[in-house]
Amino acid sequence: MARSPDAVQLSFEFSAPRSQQATDSLLNTYQRLVKLAPDYVSVTYGAGGSSKDGTVQAVLALAAKGAQVAPHLSFGNDSKDSIAALLHQYMDAGIDRLVALRGDAPSGMTGTRGMTHASDLVAFIRQETQQHFHIEVAAYPEVHPESASVESDINYFKLKMDAGANSAITQYFYNADAYFRFQDNCAAVGLSAQVVPGIMPITNLEGLVRFSNNCGAEIPRWVLKHLQRYAGDQQALQAFGEEVVTALCEKLLQGGAPGLHFYTLNRSKPCTRICRNLGL
Ligand code: FAD
Repeated sequence: MARSPDAVQLSFEFSAPRSQQATDSLLNTYQRLVKLAPDYVSVTYGAGGSSKDGTVQAVLALAAKGAQVAPHLSFGNDSKDSIAALLHQYMDAGIDRLVALRGDAPSGMTGTRGMTHASDLVAFIRQETQQHFHIEVAAYPEVHPESASVESDINYFKLKMDAGANSAITQYFYNADAYFRFQDNCAAVGLSAQVVPGIMPITNLEGLVRFSNNCGAEIPRWVLKHLQRYAGDQQALQAFGEEVVTALCEKLLQGGAPGLHFYTLNRSKPCTRICRNLGL
C-alpha cells in the first residue's frame, strides 16, 4: 500500500567533489534540495578511496550547515587503523549514519588485509563503534554483476545485513518488478529490513549508457529507443526521462517502497521536478 507523502523516506546522494569549487557547487545544490526536506543526504567515496579527501571535506561542510549526512565508506587499500580514525572523526562531527560498501577497486589494488566484502566492513564498524552508526548497505534488484546466481546474491546480501547493517539502498533500475521480486526474495530468507530504491533521473543518453554498462543496470529497450530518438533534442529527452522516472517512482511507492534515494549527480533540478510530480 502506498505511503502518505510525509511517510516517504527521502534521501539525496552527492558524488564526492574533487576541488573546492566542486564542494561549493555541491553545497549550493544541497541548499536547493533541502527545500524538499530530505531525511538525509549522502556523499560517495571514490573507487579505492580516490576521492576520500573530497568526501570528508564535503561531509563536514554539509554537517556544518546542519545537514543529516551519511558518508559512504569503502576500504580500498586503507589500513584498519585509518578506517577507525575516520569513523571516530565522523563520530566527533556528530555523524551517525554511514553507507558501507566494498567499492570497486581499480586494477592492481589488493584491498585492506582482512576485508574482502562489504560484510567485513560492516562487522568492523560494529566492532569499532558498536551501535553508534545507522549502517546502510547496497542491494541489487537486478543482481550484482559479479554474483554467480540470484541465490548467492541474496545470501551474501543477508550476510551483510546479519553482520550488523540496519537497512539498504538499491542500485538504480528502471523495472519496478525487479525491486518487488527482490523484496520477496528478502522475505523468503527472513529479512525484513528497509530496502529503499535508488533512483537515477534520466537526463543524458551517453552518461546513462556508460554508467549502466559499468554497474549492470538494465535500460529497457523501449526506453533506450526513445532516448535515441530524442538524442538531438535535449529538452524532449529530459521531458521523456522525467515522465519515465516519475512513473517508476509512483509504481514503487504504490507497491509499498519505504522511500526513494536519488542519485543526484550533484544536480538539483531533475530530482526536484520528479519529487514535485510525486507531491513530495
Ligand atoms: P559486496 O556486498 O561485498 O558484494 C560484492 C560482490 O561480492 C557481490 O557479487 C556479492 O554477492 C559478492 N559477495 C559478497 N560477500 C561475499 C562473500 N562472503 N563471498 C563471496 N562473494 C561475496 N562504489 C564506490 O566506489 N563508492 C561509493 O560511494 C559507492 N556508493 C554506492 C551506493 C549505492 C547505494 C550502491 C548500490 C552502490 C555504490 N557503489 C559505490 C558501488 C559498489 O561499491 C559496487 O556495486 C561494488 O561492486 C559492490 O559493492 P558492495 O558493497 O555491494 O559489495
